[in-house]
Amino acid sequence: MSAWDAWLAERSHLRAERGTERFDAVLRVSGPGRASRDPLDLASNDYLGLSRDERVVSAGKAALDRYGASATASRLVTGTLPVHRDLEAALCRLTGQPSALAFSTGYAANLGVLTALSGWGAEILLDAHAHASLHDAARMSRVPHATFAHNDPAALDAELAARPNRRVVVAVESIYSVLGDPAPLRALVDVCHRHGALLVVDEAHGIGVAGHGRGLVHELDLVGSRDLVVTLTLSKALGSQGGAVLGSTAVRNHLVNTARSFIFDTGLAPASAAAACAAADIVASDATLAAAVRANARTIADICGIEPAAGAVQSLPMSSPESAVAAALDLRAQGVLVGCFRPPSVPDGVSRLRVTARADLAGEDLYQAARLVAHAAAAHGAVSGADTVEGP
Ligand code: PMP
Repeated sequence: MSAWDAWLAERSHLRAERGTERFDAVLRVSGPGRASRDPLDLASNDYLGLSRDERVVSAGKAALDRYGASATASRLVTGTLPVHRDLEAALCRLTGQPSALAFSTGYAANLGVLTALSGWGAEILLDAHAHASLHDAARMSRVPHATFAHNDPAALDAELAARPNRRVVVAVESIYSVLGDPAPLRALVDVCHRHGALLVVDEAHGIGVAGHGRGLVHELDLVGSRDLVVTLTLSKALGSQGGAVLGSTAVRNHLVNTARSFIFDTGLAPASAAAACAAADIVASDATLAAAVRANARTIADICGIEPAAGAVQSLPMSSPESAVAAALDLRAQGVLVGCFRPPSVPDGVSRLRVTARADLAGEDLYQAARLVAHAAAAHGAVSGADTVEGP
């Protein structure tokens, strides 16, 4: 065994001891639309069921036929195709934003936006629950960065007041990815304006769900606010792959010139771009999808006896990582897939079942799955949000 093999074995052993080993098991044979052999999927992020929508799939197929399987180069070399322009226009129509730039993932969009908009002399402030990609982006920015208390505009105000005459980029999510709670965006925008800070809002879980599908920024009438930039992923409600940054044309031009995860990355695959473009048009023209996912989310929360969260994600706190794993495995054995989130993937250190609603899973299938979730959570040690036993 080489020294590296020994080191890998030791890391794996430590994870096994802590109960944090992760597995990329094959759990279903088709999309979440469900073949008869598949379990009921309350774990994926295909909130509107668009990954299997015929219009989305045929748009992807047509792009494969027309452009081939790859963008073949960076967008700045020969990788920009008409389908990228179409997608960016569709995202602008959906969100109301003036300008959009597509990235190969939402992760890359977040890396690009924070590194490009910070730079020398700037600082970054992140909400303490912000997604890993925003934390990684802050690290990659090589500028001082810190967190402020989750969803606390007064805490942000104090942090900004302590940094007068600084160029500060603030990053938050619109609806948080694990707990499913919404950000107080109006108050955060006000605080940022008062201090001249730029606010980046990650709408990964807001787009397609909040604001009749147009996102929380749109719902709160914040489109067009100065110094506000939005990022999103195409891989959740839009049923495809990829990410985007939306904002002014000046921001877009700056990113094209300086965002390394845009410049040094192969352009978004044409089939993904076309599928996301079709999905964005569907969401923009059909608000019933967003209404359905929210109604189904409320049903799950009601049956599980928890406060309904703002988006598709509903979160059931469990008493320990072991109880979360046991409940999730029990559910898997009964044919229901839920997310099982444990440290370090939970912002508050509390292990939980993460249950996502879908617009295309309703009626008896939904009731039955939610009842099984409620039962397994109770049997394995669900706790109310108020008396969670683990701390951060
Ligand atoms: N931001 C948030 C809040 C997310 O939840 C995710 C996906 N987990 C991302 C960004 C990354 O998006 P993608 O999967 O497209 O890279």
